Amino acid sequence: MVLPGLQSAVRVFPPKTTLKFSPAPLMSDDIATPIVYLNGNFLPLGDAKISVLDRGFLFGDGIYEVIPVYDGHLFRLAEHFERLAQSLAGIRCPPPLTTVEWIAVLTELVVRNGAGDLSIYLQITRGVGPNRDHAFPVGVIPSVFAMATPLIPLPAEKRRTGVRAILIDDLRWGRCNLKVITLLANVLARQQAIDVGAYESILVRNGQITEGAASNVFIVRNGILLTPPKGPLLLPGITRDLVLELATTANLPVREEILTVQDLISAEEIWLTSATKEVVAVIELDDHVIGTGRPGSYYQKMTALYQSFKDRVRRRFDL
Ligand code: PMP
Repeated sequence: MVLPGLQSAVRVFPPKTTLKFSPAPLMSDDIATPIVYLNGNFLPLGDAKISVLDRGFLFGDGIYEVIPVYDGHLFRLAEHFERLAQSLAGIRCPPPLTTVEWIAVLTELVVRNGAGDLSIYLQITRGVGPNRDHAFPVGVIPSVFAMATPLIPLPAEKRRTGVRAILIDDLRWGRCNLKVITLLANVLARQQAIDVGAYESILVRNGQITEGAASNVFIVRNGILLTPPKGPLLLPGITRDLVLELATTANLPVREEILTVQDLISAEEIWLTSATKEVVAVIELDDHVIGTGRPGSYYQKMTALYQSFKDRVRRRFDL
């Protein structure tokens, strides 16, 4: 779905906006010191400071997005903006910028950081209150931060061989569809995988697979691509939706269906998806070898579809 105003906005370059940026064309000349955006200003990462009373710092009271950029082109922007709007509404935070203003900020950020392959991290918190009080402060202005850092792709070796994953209990709250910055459970889950030499933890709630610590989960069974349906217990991944879209366009059968631990163990293939790591094949889950123990033929097909979609994004001229 396309947000109102976005379709026309992306064709305007540079976008018309009432935002005023610092006059000096501050550019990153060193990938180790990106130029970031903080509350209306572009500045070197090391100079970006927030108050300790910011509610993101005190309560994890905020939301975020991660948007890949290929050759300076923002990937699936309308979809990211739509999820951003849902996350803001979900935490009852007013949108700090309009779509056109966001495009101006992100375009400027991309240009100032070299307009290559980047990963944009964008965060909005409820803002800085007068003190530490759980209740929303009255009249507070949300804090807005965005940075563009080099996009680190999955190492070619992992793409070739696949990765190992573990199953663990999903101990998170009941609003996992919101992309909130309160990520402690996800951080601990990912670390649990790393501690045993695995790549990702796949989370299980009441016997059902929800998602990975920082990814969505797919399986191939009897030649059909399956993934859990959207709902409050998993993040509606932008990559998840793109994979479903690409598969459907290529006439590969897909279904959104509840998956159990047994479904995963007996699957022909398991994949993980996320914006920066794209599609990754899982070849071992706990002590179980998945399929042939190598990335499967559906994975190879999807990787090719995904790469050709990215190539089309790289060649776009409207953003
Ligand atoms: N689930 C979780 C918990 C995530 O953190 C992420 C993003 N890293 C995803 C799924 C995948 O979402 P996307 O495809 O939008 O990156």
